[in-house]
Amino acid sequence: MPLKQSILVAYLGLFITVAMSFAADRLPQPPTPSPSPSPTVQALRLQQAAISPAPAAEPAPETINVLHGGEIYTVPLEKYLTGVVAAEMPADFEPEALKAQAVAARTYTLYCAAAAKHGEAQVCTSFACCQAWKSEDSMRQSWGEAYDRCYAKISAAVNDTAGQFLSYEGQPVFSAFHSSSAGRTESCGAIWSALPYLVSVESPEDENNVPGYTSQVELSPLDFRDTLLHACPDADFSGAESEWIGAVNLEDSGRVDSVELGGVLYSGTKLRELFSLRSTAFTLDYTGTSFLFSVTGFGHGVGMSQYGANVMAAEGTDYTAILAHYYPGTILVG
Ligand SMILES: [Zn+2]
Repeated sequence: MPLKQSILVAYLGLFITVAMSFAADRLPQPPTPSPSPSPTVQALRLQQAAISPAPAAEPAPETINVLHGGEIYTVPLEKYLTGVVAAEMPADFEPEALKAQAVAARTYTLYCAAAAKHGEAQVCTSFACCQAWKSEDSMRQSWGEAYDRCYAKISAAVNDTAGQFLSYEGQPVFSAFHSSSAGRTESCGAIWSALPYLVSVESPEDENNVPGYTSQVELSPLDFRDTLLHACPDADFSGAESEWIGAVNLEDSGRVDSVELGGVLYSGTKLRELFSLRSTAFTLDYTGTSFLFSVTGFGHGVGMSQYGANVMAAEGTDYTAILAHYYPGTILVG
């Protein structure tokens, strides 16, 4: 395998282990892609679906085994989820957005449990592996004197949705979420395996309601070139700087799929990682003296946008409609 390809493959492998949370990327392990059925099989399935309803999802358990600091703790699911929502979304968000987050977190917990990657534990507290979680000490530290008020608000969002999760064909879904989108969310297939309920949808947040909605990363030609060459030595930057940027290919969501640089195709996610861009919704320009990325939103863009959910909630949308918008085709059970 050429080095260029092996780097890209290594990069993809890395990205599959990282997912988006509010403050940082947190990427749950996506499902294994299943081959597309033939039209005949699809037609057969549609006929079957008309006759027999989708299998019912198992109810959420009351307790869950959580791996934390090398020990396994059996805790009430809803108490654990209060620590998750506290870690994933600011307590000052709208109550309906917090409820949507609680359902997404519960769903993701059950998704991890089904994946069974921690033996007797169903989920761990590492944001890089399963999902972020805050202990009571950590919540007290974050909220200070507002602890009682913030805790009550978040635990209300969890308890008001107790037992509820999103299911597709009887299984808890891969409920990816991210901080903010750039007009549209990203389809799962643009980054991981395509899923019917993780397609690109509109998202209403903008610079008026998201802090740091737009950001810029500017590099000297030397830094820009050296970083790209380090990632892919096959690139050729011997020509004029003004000629280094080639074709830019966009996803349907408007995010960058790939950019040709020095004759080599770099994926948008690769460039995001190389230059610490907040998302793949960016433009790249040569200013005459530097290379400038102008970036919109924060996160991988797949699934629910947390700021988008907050805007929808502020406009009067309830959590069930928020979830139906960002995870179309899923069923809220429980
Ligand atoms: Zn884990």
